[in-house]
Amino acid sequence: MPQNTIPRKIWLFGLSLAVICLSVNILVFEQKTNFLLFLVFAFINLLTFSFLLKYSSDKLQIIQSSSEHNQEAINIIEAENKKSQEHNLALKLKITRYDNLKKLIEELNNSLKLDILIRVLSSTVYSLISGSTGVALFYLLDGQYQKLSLVHSIKDDSNLVVLSKEGDIFDQWVLRHSSQLIIENLKKDFRFDSDSLGAQNTRPVLSLISSPLISNNSLLGLLRLESSKEGFFNQDDLRFLSLVADLGAVALENSLLFQKTQDLAIHDDLTALFTRSYFTERLKDEARRCLRLDQYLSLMMVDIDFFKQYNDKFGHIVGDLVLKKMGILLKEVLAEFNPLLCRFGGEEFLVMLSGIDKKRSLIIAEDLRQKIQAERIVLRRQDTHITVSIGVASMPLDTKDDDELVQKADKAMYAAKAKGRNQVCSI
Ligand code: GH3
Ligand code: MG
Ligand code: MG
Repeated sequence: MPQNTIPRKIWLFGLSLAVICLSVNILVFEQKTNFLLFLVFAFINLLTFSFLLKYSSDKLQIIQSSSEHNQEAINIIEAENKKSQEHNLALKLKITRYDNLKKLIEELNNSLKLDILIRVLSSTVYSLISGSTGVALFYLLDGQYQKLSLVHSIKDDSNLVVLSKEGDIFDQWVLRHSSQLIIENLKKDFRFDSDSLGAQNTRPVLSLISSPLISNNSLLGLLRLESSKEGFFNQDDLRFLSLVADLGAVALENSLLFQKTQDLAIHDDLTALFTRSYFTERLKDEARRCLRLDQYLSLMMVDIDFFKQYNDKFGHIVGDLVLKKMGILLKEVLAEFNPLLCRFGGEEFLVMLSGIDKKRSLIIAEDLRQKIQAERIVLRRQDTHITVSIGVASMPLDTKDDDELVQKADKAMYAAKAKGRNQVCSI
């Protein structure tokens, strides 16, 4: 050690000087020259000793203070080292997150299915930001009613229940401000009255981050992460959540548009019932399934009586309203039977009843006919009633072929017309 080496050298030097001086003293004393000379030599010795002592203690002090300085420098370097280690760790985390972004973009590009997109987005932020702890919530916004609805959640504790299915005060805040939100301690955040959550919040939440999903200036929903720990999320986490939310919003909008286009393709735009082509496909599948499982399948062909007269009397636009009303009536009256409904053509409708035999379907058809007849329809301030003729055919009694089933129901409907209309027939 340097601080030990220097004093030792000094001591050795002092000691040898002292020995030399002593030897000279003895020599001088032995020669009995002068006692005064001896005293002078002894004094010089003493001076040399005290000088050496002072020198070595000064040196020691310098060494000690430099050692303290060194220790301070070591402490600073250690603190900087710790800081840079933390920085490296944060950087590594960032790299992992941004590496995963590429994977996320690929996954988002590969699917147009809304439920898949929602799952991918939720699980990505849950694992990369929350480390798969706490809760992730995904809300979609019903643009018409400006209402949020919880469509997906991930929880690390299956016993946790999310009661706020339409969002709580924090979600409403994000919705109102169309802006991201970070809360480090829910109980200390002056912006929110956490007591007002009351029984709504059964989860032990202390911190959360939330980001709106905005595409083309319209808010589609929001993505939220929460933790039971205080200050669990930082600004980096919020930034990453927003980035994922921005990417997700674009994918979500594409998916919603695709879904809308698909919906339009299979729904009649006037009555919102299924189109003939979609219905025919579904009937084919259902007929196959019912035959395989030995189940009944019934079909009703419903045709409005003398509909041409309505058009002639009230005009085509009013005629359209009657067709719309028919769609609503069919849905309402038959709701309990979970039917598949379609506008087959002009003023003709098809109803598929799975698992219902011919006898029961005739009763259902008669009930439907009566309810339609009883419905008061106001056209140009005039009370009107419409009637329908219904033809019924069933599988496997009438046929085992789906095309023939439609033909038989149609034939039965014409039989009802021939018998005077406003009645139910089967053949
Ligand atoms: P029937 O009792 O024999 O069924 O008589 P009908 O008048 O109902 O039958 P017909 O086949 O003679 O006339 C059907 C009418 O339905 C003719 C057509 O103008 C009308 N129609 C078909 N599609 C539409 C539509 O989309 N809107 C309106 N307003 N009318 C339609
Ligand atoms: Mg008709
Ligand atoms: Mg017709």
